[in-house]
Amino acid sequence: MSVKDILDKEDFSKENLITLLQSSGEDRLLLFTRSGKIKADNIGNKVWFRGLIEFSNVCGKDCLYCGIRKGNKNLTRYNLSDEEIIEAAKFAWKNRYGSIALQSGELESPDFTERVEKLLNKIKELSRGELGITLSVGEQKPEVYKRWFDAGAHRYLLRVEATNEKLYNKIHPLNSKHSFRKRMDCLKSLQDTGYQTGTGVMIGLPYQTLDDLAGDLLFMKDFNIDMCGMGPYIEHADTPLIEVKETLLPLQERFDLTLKMIAIIRIMMKDINIVAATALQAIDPIGREKAVKIGANIIMPNITPGKYRDSYKLYDNKPCTDDSAEDCQSCLEARVSLADCDVVYGEWGDSKHYENRRQASGYRLQENPDA
Ligand code: SAM
Repeated sequence: MSVKDILDKEDFSKENLITLLQSSGEDRLLLFTRSGKIKADNIGNKVWFRGLIEFSNVCGKDCLYCGIRKGNKNLTRYNLSDEEIIEAAKFAWKNRYGSIALQSGELESPDFTERVEKLLNKIKELSRGELGITLSVGEQKPEVYKRWFDAGAHRYLLRVEATNEKLYNKIHPLNSKHSFRKRMDCLKSLQDTGYQTGTGVMIGLPYQTLDDLAGDLLFMKDFNIDMCGMGPYIEHADTPLIEVKETLLPLQERFDLTLKMIAIIRIMMKDINIVAATALQAIDPIGREKAVKIGANIIMPNITPGKYRDSYKLYDNKPCTDDSAEDCQSCLEARVSLADCDVVYGEWGDSKHYENRRQASGYRLQENPDA
């Protein structure tokens, strides 16, 4: 079936998705034009910011692709103080970013649970409830997710990384700390708790096929995600997967495949929030803007204090590690206008999909000041 005929269908089969992922020339343009139009019609030519605070690179896990894995000894570990995190959140609020995203390595402990809970309470208080908060701190018990939800976090990003269990097991150590089932259970628990639930995968992983990527897209639709964060896999010299770097697609192809994945998920799920991942910019200086043009509507300017940024290196050549939060904002604003989009200030910019899902099934929702 031709790309044009596929794009006219309501639902895509796995075979259709593979054809779309392989598209080139005119067909590729057709795909991007369609996804860009769907974004404009359903979301508008808009981008919302989530001020990203990478508050610690201390991690208890050993994912084979990740630069901050526990086993990497060539890294200075850091943990922002509560005051530094609060200051960064204040910066976001004063600059009218609607939301922040708190991200860190993965720790499961009563101390960590309590610390995050207290931080959520403080950030809600300092911003008089105005700052929306996304968490991205990995796998936790359902009761922990619930405590944080009750303390004011209302979105959670947990990338599934790969939905083919065999592939998942090739990029993680084979033990109970890195279990595919647990990842899936956590995603379900987030959704059941009432979070706007986001997931995604890395694109261009070693051993990954187009069949895998098509499966990832079908999973996201079937799971009914509210938010999507996908980015290219970029190798890191101090990780075990560096050994198979010769088998990887060229960076430019990983980049192009990521744009296609974003375009396709926008067509499949018209009203979700889609992040233009920072890793896109590590390959192409205007990578995030290209993603915004063809379907993404969320950008995460890094507002982590500059001195720590170099130590949150998930992959080689991570961009903007020596910028300040102010540099990041003005640079991004100019860039977003390149993609003919406007940054919306002072709004949460929640996933419309979540709102529609909630109305259909009576999910709980944090009070949204945009509404
Ligand atoms: N620990 C939390 C979790 O697992 O959700 C959040 C932090 S984790 C470092 C954030 C994301 O970084 C992961 O979900 C993964 O997709 C991405 N990441 C890690 N290593 C990467 C690499 N080499 N290339 C691209 N993305 C990478």
